[in-house]
Amino acid sequence: MKFFQYDRRRNKLEYKTKLYGRIFITVDPKNTTQTCSTCDHVMSGENKLTLKDCEWLCPKYRTHHIRDVNAAKNILSKALQSV
Ligand SMILES: [Zn+2]
Repeated sequence: MKFFQYDRRRNKLEYKTKLYGRIFITVDPKNTTQTCSTCDHVMSGENKLTLKDCEWLCPKYRTHHIRDVNAAKNILSKALQSV
């Protein structure tokens, strides 16, 4: 059922995007949350982020991230690489 709802929302978004002359791009969501958008370090093992980690520091350069903002930057980056 959840997949059906996801597909409906996705289809609606794709329709609206095309309606307004925009480009609709899908990306592989793998590691978009776990990857530092500044240095590409991927959190893994004991350092892997959980849903409780709303903010985190990248251990490589101590960059502060807000989880969803960081993931959005990674998704945008993947999308731009695909065009
Ligand atoms: Zn980093």
